Amino acid sequence: MMTLTITCPECKSGIHVYANAAADAAQCAVCNHVVDLKFDQNHANNELHDCPVCQRKDFYIQKDFNRKIGVALFILASILSIWTYGISFIVLYAVDFFLFRKLSYIAICYKCSTIFRGPKNLLQIQPFDHEMHDRIVYSDHDFKGKSISH
Ligand SMILES: [Zn+2]
Ligand SMILES: [Zn+2]
Repeated sequence: MMTLTITCPECKSGIHVYANAAADAAQCAVCNHVVDLKFDQNHANNELHDCPVCQRKDFYIQKDFNRKIGVALFILASILSIWTYGISFIVLYAVDFFLFRKLSYIAICYKCSTIFRGPKNLLQIQPFDHEMHDRIVYSDHDFKGKSISH
Protein backbone atom coordinates (compact mmCIF):
# COMPACT_ATOMS: atom_id res chain seq x y z
CA MET A 1 0.00 0.00 0.00
CA MET A 2 1.18 3.51 -0.80
CA THR A 3 2.18 5.59 2.20
CA LEU A 4 2.33 9.37 2.52
CA THR A 5 4.41 11.69 4.61
CA ILE A 6 2.58 15.00 4.67
CA THR A 7 4.37 18.13 5.82
CA CYS A 8 2.11 19.78 8.40
CA PRO A 9 1.33 23.29 7.06
CA GLU A 10 1.24 24.63 10.62
CA CYS A 11 4.34 23.21 12.31
CA LYS A 12 6.21 21.44 9.45
CA SER A 13 6.16 18.08 11.25
CA GLY A 14 5.80 14.93 9.20
CA ILE A 15 2.36 13.29 9.28
CA HIS A 16 2.45 9.64 8.20
CA VAL A 17 -0.67 8.15 6.64
CA TYR A 18 -1.64 5.22 4.44
CA ALA A 19 -3.34 5.89 1.12
CA ASN A 20 -6.70 4.68 2.37
CA ALA A 21 -9.71 5.63 0.25
CA ALA A 22 -11.83 5.72 3.40
CA ALA A 23 -9.70 8.42 5.01
CA ASP A 24 -10.62 12.02 4.29
CA ALA A 25 -8.33 13.77 6.76
CA ALA A 26 -5.12 13.33 8.73
CA GLN A 27 -4.27 14.95 12.03
CA CYS A 28 -0.84 16.23 13.00
CA ALA A 29 0.35 14.47 16.15
CA VAL A 30 2.38 17.51 17.16
CA CYS A 31 0.02 20.50 16.78
CA ASN A 32 -3.33 18.71 16.12
CA HIS A 33 -3.79 20.55 12.82
CA VAL A 34 -6.12 18.61 10.51
CA VAL A 35 -5.14 18.19 6.84
CA ASP A 36 -7.94 17.35 4.41
CA LEU A 37 -7.25 14.42 2.07
CA LYS A 38 -8.90 13.49 -1.20
CA PHE A 39 -8.11 9.90 -2.12
CA ASP A 40 -9.53 8.44 -5.32
CA GLN A 41 -9.55 5.10 -7.13
CA ASN A 42 -5.99 5.66 -8.43
CA HIS A 43 -4.63 5.88 -4.91
CA ALA A 44 -6.53 2.73 -3.96
CA ASN A 45 -4.72 1.05 -6.89
CA ASN A 46 -1.35 2.39 -5.66
CA GLU A 47 -1.09 4.84 -8.55
CA LEU A 48 -0.11 8.42 -8.06
CA HIS A 49 -1.72 10.94 -10.44
CA ASP A 50 -3.26 13.52 -8.14
CA CYS A 51 -1.93 14.82 -4.86
CA PRO A 52 -4.50 13.96 -2.17
CA VAL A 53 -3.37 16.99 -0.16
CA CYS A 54 -3.24 19.85 -2.70
CA GLN A 55 -4.89 18.18 -5.75
CA ARG A 56 -1.96 19.04 -8.02
CA LYS A 57 -0.53 16.55 -10.52
CA ASP A 58 3.11 17.59 -10.51
CA PHE A 59 5.57 15.30 -8.76
CA TYR A 60 9.25 14.48 -8.92
CA ILE A 61 11.21 11.46 -7.79
CA GLN A 62 14.38 11.19 -5.79
CA LYS A 63 16.28 8.45 -4.03
CA ASP A 64 14.84 7.47 -0.67
CA PHE A 65 18.01 8.58 1.02
CA ASN A 66 18.40 9.43 4.67
CA ARG A 67 19.80 12.96 4.53
CA LYS A 68 21.09 12.89 8.09
CA ILE A 69 23.24 9.83 7.37
CA GLY A 70 24.36 11.40 4.09
CA VAL A 71 25.40 14.66 5.75
CA ALA A 72 27.19 12.80 8.56
CA LEU A 73 29.10 10.68 6.01
CA PHE A 74 30.00 13.79 4.03
CA ILE A 75 31.35 15.58 7.12
CA LEU A 76 33.30 12.46 8.09
CA ALA A 77 34.77 12.27 4.58
CA SER A 78 35.69 15.97 4.74
CA ILE A 79 37.54 15.53 8.02
CA LEU A 80 39.29 12.36 6.85
CA SER A 81 40.26 13.96 3.54
CA ILE A 82 42.76 16.17 5.39
CA TRP A 83 44.81 13.04 6.12
CA THR A 84 43.85 10.96 3.13
CA TYR A 85 44.32 13.66 0.45
CA GLY A 86 40.73 13.30 -0.72
CA ILE A 87 40.67 9.52 -0.94
CA SER A 88 37.85 9.49 1.61
CA PHE A 89 35.67 11.30 -0.94
CA ILE A 90 36.26 8.51 -3.41
CA VAL A 91 35.32 6.02 -0.69
CA LEU A 92 32.21 8.07 0.06
CA TYR A 93 31.30 8.03 -3.61
CA ALA A 94 31.74 4.26 -3.70
CA VAL A 95 29.63 3.81 -0.56
CA ASP A 96 26.98 6.07 -2.05
CA PHE A 97 27.08 4.19 -5.32
CA PHE A 98 26.82 0.72 -3.86
CA LEU A 99 24.67 1.39 -0.85
CA PHE A 100 22.23 4.07 -1.91
CA ARG A 101 21.82 3.02 -5.51
CA LYS A 102 19.88 0.03 -4.21
CA LEU A 103 17.46 2.16 -2.26
CA SER A 104 14.08 2.74 -3.75
CA TYR A 105 12.77 6.02 -5.01
CA ILE A 106 10.16 8.26 -3.47
CA ALA A 107 7.81 10.66 -5.22
CA ILE A 108 7.38 14.18 -3.88
CA CYS A 109 4.68 16.76 -4.62
CA TYR A 110 6.24 20.00 -5.89
CA LYS A 111 3.48 22.11 -4.41
CA CYS A 112 3.02 20.78 -0.88
CA SER A 113 6.13 18.56 -0.39
CA THR A 114 4.11 15.48 0.47
CA ILE A 115 6.27 12.35 0.12
CA PHE A 116 4.80 9.21 -1.47
CA ARG A 117 6.31 5.78 -0.92
CA GLY A 118 5.33 2.77 -3.00
CA PRO A 119 3.25 4.05 -5.93
CA LYS A 120 3.29 1.58 -8.86
CA ASN A 121 3.87 4.29 -11.47
CA LEU A 122 6.86 5.78 -9.61
CA LEU A 123 9.35 5.36 -12.45
CA GLN A 124 7.11 7.21 -14.90
CA ILE A 125 7.62 10.34 -12.81
CA GLN A 126 10.47 12.68 -13.78
CA PRO A 127 13.37 13.67 -11.50
CA PHE A 128 13.45 17.08 -9.86
CA ASP A 129 13.35 20.03 -12.26
CA HIS A 130 14.43 23.40 -10.92
CA GLU A 131 12.42 25.43 -13.39
CA MET A 132 9.23 23.49 -12.63
CA HIS A 133 9.87 23.85 -8.92
CA ASP A 134 10.36 27.61 -9.13
CA ARG A 135 7.32 28.15 -11.33
CA ILE A 136 5.10 26.01 -9.11
CA VAL A 137 6.33 27.32 -5.78
CA TYR A 138 6.93 31.00 -6.62
CA SER A 139 4.51 31.67 -9.47
CA ASP A 140 1.86 29.10 -8.46
CA HIS A 141 1.94 27.64 -11.97
CA ASP A 142 0.03 24.39 -12.48
CA PHE A 143 1.66 22.00 -14.96
CA LYS A 144 -1.22 19.52 -14.58
CA GLY A 145 1.09 16.53 -14.64
CA LYS A 146 2.91 17.44 -17.85
CA SER A 147 6.66 17.71 -17.58
CA ILE A 148 8.31 20.86 -18.83
CA SER A 149 9.46 20.87 -22.48
CA HIS A 150 12.77 22.47 -23.23
ZN1 LIG B 1 1.54 20.21 13.00
ZN1 LIG C 1 0.57 18.23 -3.01
